[in-house]
Parts: sequence; structure tokens; C-alpha cells
Amino acid sequence: MKTPSELLSSVHRHLAANEPRLIGWRRDFHQHPELGNRETRTSGIVADHLDRLGLKVTTGVAHTGVVALLQGGRDGRVVGLRADMDALPITEQIDVPFRSHARTTYNGETVGVMHACGHDGHTAILMAVAEALAQHRNDLPGTVKFIFQPAEEGVPDGEDGGAAMMIREGVLDGPKPDIVMGLHLVSPVPSNQILFFKGPMLASSDVVSISLKGRQTHGARPWAGIDPIVSAAQIVLGLQTIVSRQVDVARQPSVLSVTILKGGIRHNIIPETVELGGTLRTFDESMRQDIHARIKRTAELIAASSGVQADVTVKTQYPVTFSNAELTERILPALQRAAGPENVRLGTKLMAADDFAFFGHHLPTTYFVVGCAPPDQDPAVGEPNHSPRFFVDERCLLLGARALSAAALDLLHGA
Ligand SMILES: [Zn+2]
Ligand SMILES: [Zn+2]
Repeated sequence: MKTPSELLSSVHRHLAANEPRLIGWRRDFHQHPELGNRETRTSGIVADHLDRLGLKVTTGVAHTGVVALLQGGRDGRVVGLRADMDALPITEQIDVPFRSHARTTYNGETVGVMHACGHDGHTAILMAVAEALAQHRNDLPGTVKFIFQPAEEGVPDGEDGGAAMMIREGVLDGPKPDIVMGLHLVSPVPSNQILFFKGPMLASSDVVSISLKGRQTHGARPWAGIDPIVSAAQIVLGLQTIVSRQVDVARQPSVLSVTILKGGIRHNIIPETVELGGTLRTFDESMRQDIHARIKRTAELIAASSGVQADVTVKTQYPVTFSNAELTERILPALQRAAGPENVRLGTKLMAADDFAFFGHHLPTTYFVVGCAPPDQDPAVGEPNHSPRFFVDERCLLLGARALSAAALDLLHGA
């Protein structure tokens, strides 16, 4: 029987020896990205891999999710490890040999598809961790539940999916994990660094949709109709004054971004309608509700000033993601062993959101960030997640696998 430190060393040796395969998996996923609820190829590869490791595998959870159980040779806790598998409707601009040329349709439009949020890396890392832990199953105290989740970034209009749907379909039952843990690759944090968090770490996210209806007319005769384009422009600017002028910025951060602005077909036709969309990020429930009301009022009243009709909806999407402070304290030594103590630091709140938050409504969760930007790159010029130039320095993959496995072992050992 191995001591905990012998077990960790052996798991880390396995991961290091198999780093080229870890990188190979990530490149394969990168070259073949799939949008949320469409991860059939990805989840097929994941399920085959877990199957070959001799794990008990369930497929088709929340459409394309895969869940696998690794029963250790000794009694202990149940630790859930989660990776998300979906890509984004983005056309890749990074010139790597495994660049994505994938195209698909999303909400009726033809789009490029790209792993621009590092989920290819998350999936590959969790496959590597599953293999390394499975090789040591007799020495493992407890059970590891591997959760490969679809559709973290959201689903096409009218569909259901993601973490919340996995939970409804029983991912946290039989057996219920005592803890669920996850990680995220983030740029431009350097690829030798890990950020940990205590308490609220990722914002809530809400989907803003505004439909404007004017009256179509000739581009040369705007007075003969009602112009929804100008109204949209005024609304975009009006919305900017909510966070900057109307809410207490010292209380909690919030962000409101307009990310969709669609209208018109020809230079000489003022269109009948314009669609606006965006995202709201907050950390405080009362600020969240207050900003919802302000979005509605701002858009409706600006539209009304020129006779445009506005239909405004703000749909709550994900709650705030928490990293349980006590649990984070328990995995901190493992993160420090994996990265070196000088490379592990306390992160500040991120305005990104993650449906990992839903797991936290059912049990204690901890979530950490692994950097993926080249360490010698100036963070000020690094491309963030969701950029078409998002780049993963693949040294982060082994680090992520080392950190996740070390933290999982400590939690299984009852650290
Ligand atoms: Zn993302
Ligand atoms: Zn992501």
C-alpha cells in the first residue's frame, strides 16, 4: 500500500510520461470543435477512453454528457471532477497546424467553430487525470466521479442543456459526490501559474434581448417612417450609463455589454426592425434585479422617444460561482506542490461566468484557474478567452492535470 505522497508521485510520473498524449488529445479536440449540445464526436472519444480504463460509464447525460465512476480499492469519499467540452461560434485566426476549419450553423447563421475558451484543454486534462488515477485504483481511497459536461457556453435558442440539465438528470445522485471540483484555463494568466479563489469568484450572467420595431421606409425619406437604427444606437449608448452612472461601483463590480446589433439589408432602406443582445454580469442579487429594471426602462423610454416599440427581456442564465473558502484552503497545498508555491496566488473576482455555479447549489465546490498564456508574454497584450486569437501554451495542460490530480487525491484522503 502506497503512502499518500508515494501515490501522488506515482500519479504525477504517469501524467508526465503521457504528456504527449495529453497534448495530442487537446489538439484533436481543437481541430474538431463542436458547439454546445452537439459534442457527439468529443463525447464519443471521451466515453471510449473511459470505457477502456474500465470505468463505469454513462453517456447521453443532458444530451452529450459523459459521467464515469472510478471506484478505489479503499473506502473514502466521493469526489466529483468536472470538465466542459463545448466550443464557441468563432472563426479561428491563430495559425497552428491543428487550427480549426470547422463551420456549422448556429441560430440559423453559418459560423466558424473554435475552442476559444480552452474547453478542449479541460477535456484532455480530465481524460489524463482519469487515466492516471485509474492506473492507481487499488491505492485510491474512495470514489472519483468524472463529469464531462456539454454546453457550458449556452445552448442554441429553444434548447436545454449544460450543468443544470445534468443535475436534473441525476449526475449528483448514485453516488452523490461530497465535493465537486473543476478548473478553467484562462488567458492572459501565464501558463505556469494557478489562481485560487475564496468565495464568489465568477459573476452571474444574464442574457439581454431587445427587439425594436419601427416602420420601414426609404433611406432618403426617414420622416416617412420610424427609424429603429438610430433608436438602437441611442439605446446602446444609454445602456452604457447604467453601470457607469447609476449603480454603486464601490459595492460590487458589474458589467453590461451589448454584443449583438443586427438590422437592415440595403444602404437605401431603413429597416422595420433591429435586434440587440448582450450580457449582464453581477455579483449581488439586489444589484442584479435593479439593473434588470434599469435596462428595461432605458431601452423602452429611449425607443418611445422616437415612436419605436421596444420589447425587452432579461433572462437569468447562470448564478454566481463560488469556490468554497474552507475547501480551497484544503486543496491549496496540492496546488502549490503542482505549480511551486511561488506560482500559486489568490485571484480576484472574474467577470466571466460558468454554469459550474449550479453544482455549488447542491454541494461544496472548489474551482481554480490555470493560466494558459506563454509566461514570457506581456499580459497586457495577451488575447483573452473568446477571442479568435485565443492561444493556449500547452505547458498548462500538464500543470492542470498535476494540480487537479493532486487536489483530488488530497480530498479523497480527507485533507
Ligand atoms: Zn467561455
Ligand atoms: Zn469556458
